[in-house]
Amino acid sequence: MKPSTQKWIEAAKILAQAPSAIVPCPELNDGILVVHDEIFQNDPTRMERYLVCNKCGAHNIMLMRVPNAKK
Ligand SMILES: [Zn+2]
Repeated sequence: MKPSTQKWIEAAKILAQAPSAIVPCPELNDGILVVHDEIFQNDPTRMERYLVCNKCGAHNIMLMRVPNAKK
């Protein structure tokens, strides 16, 4: 496991709950993570949340349920 992996997991936990939270880049600690959601067109209750560093472009994607999704 890369040393940054645990930091990505922590960042994902924070940003899953609070997408506007300021979280430093887990990879290089050079910028902050910007959140961008992509909702599945064939399942609007689920989405991919992209976490992208605004400096180096390091990124991760987490699958999650859309908050307050209508059934
Ligand atoms: Zn970075």
